[in-house]
Amino acid sequence: MGNATDDAKALLRADRKNYLVCGAFLPVVALVHCLVTWTLPVGLVVSQLMVGALFGVMAWGLGAGRIPTRIMDSAAAVLAILGSTVFVILSGGPDSPYFHVFAALPFLLAMFTPASLLPTLVGGAVTLVAVVVVDVLAGVPARTIVLQLVGFSMLLGLALFGTRTYRRMAEAQRLAHQARLQALEQLAESERRRGDAARERAEVERLVMVGQLAAGVAHEVNNPLAFVKANLCFLEREVEDTHRPLERDELRDVLAETRQGVLRIQQIVTDLKDFSRAGSGGDEARAVLEEAVLEARRLASVRLRERGEVSLALDPGLPEVRLEQRRVVQVLLNLLLNAVDAVELADPSCQAHITVRAWRVEEGVRVEVDDNGPGIPKEVLPRLFEPFFTTKPPGRGTGLGLALCREYVSRAGGSLHAENRPGGGARFVLRLPVAEAPIAALA
Ligand code: ADP
Repeated sequence: MGNATDDAKALLRADRKNYLVCGAFLPVVALVHCLVTWTLPVGLVVSQLMVGALFGVMAWGLGAGRIPTRIMDSAAAVLAILGSTVFVILSGGPDSPYFHVFAALPFLLAMFTPASLLPTLVGGAVTLVAVVVVDVLAGVPARTIVLQLVGFSMLLGLALFGTRTYRRMAEAQRLAHQARLQALEQLAESERRRGDAARERAEVERLVMVGQLAAGVAHEVNNPLAFVKANLCFLEREVEDTHRPLERDELRDVLAETRQGVLRIQQIVTDLKDFSRAGSGGDEARAVLEEAVLEARRLASVRLRERGEVSLALDPGLPEVRLEQRRVVQVLLNLLLNAVDAVELADPSCQAHITVRAWRVEEGVRVEVDDNGPGIPKEVLPRLFEPFFTTKPPGRGTGLGLALCREYVSRAGGSLHAENRPGGGARFVLRLPVAEAPIAALA
């Protein structure tokens, strides 16, 4: 809206400038005429000064905006032709060196007011009348007048055609511009929707994982809780039994064990809370891989329970990787839970053996997650990372996990792919680039 107003103002300014230039033009030509002929034709000079002044008044009126621009432009065209006609009559009529100006006038009008037909049409008609007036006053024969009118009419026709062509081209350009703007707006809108959908998908997947883990959490918390409770009962009994001397070493062991249990419960709750918290989006894109692997293993352990184990072989001194810590945990957790599912769905009695290995490679850090499941069927392999592709029974899988993992990883400049291990089972290979050195370290 603001732009449209600015455009209208700019057009008005340009139109006003035209009026002032036209207003100055005729008096200047009169002055040049006086100098060249070294005469002072008072009528000619005064008439042109008056025309100049009238143009000034019209420029002011145009700014007031009470009369529509095309009416003002038509009036300005008539004024310019009247001024030119008086000039021609007072400088020699049909023999005036300025008579040919009548031929140029329709083109000049078309050029100055291309946006509308009216000023050129009105100005052209008045020019034809002016030619007749100048000729009749000078006693030019009727035949010559008619021939002149034919010539001038043709020129007027050409000028009108020119303005029409210009308007059509301008309209086509305007429509093309509008279409481009609309296309850009649609593109921005669909990008926004795509972003919203991706965020929603990520949220759903995360909540599904939290749900899958929740059942295991109770069991995981119950174990340490059981021995914490037993230890507290023992301590209570010991304190109340005044006959038995308190064994300091024994007490220390019991307390250390109790503390371990409480810490374990705290760790599980903290991990789950961290993982289930809504994405803040402001996390720094760097992660300590070792910590992420340990956190993912702890989280996965609530599902694994006694069904298997996750062994680690992480090279010491791995550099930080360029992805948010919680994303790395999410990716690894997804791979671990998928591996547990694969083993369990193939044979519920089979123990899962999952290995996570990580080492430094030239382009970053390479992480491999191997399992002893049935591997990935050939026909499934190319579709693995498609959103909503799942082979799990309803309620067990969303088919979003791997698609999202790959999205996070590739956005960070890494890669994630799957293969079958030569000895059986699946292998997921994750490559992550190294995080840039922190600013403090560079300084
Ligand atoms: P979901 O786990 O919800 O099915 P994912 O995108 O995480 O979605 O996994 C897609 C599919 O990839 C799974 O349904 C499964 O068929 C296959 N898959 C993933 N991990 C493994 C694995 N370790 N072994 C065999 N198949 C796997």
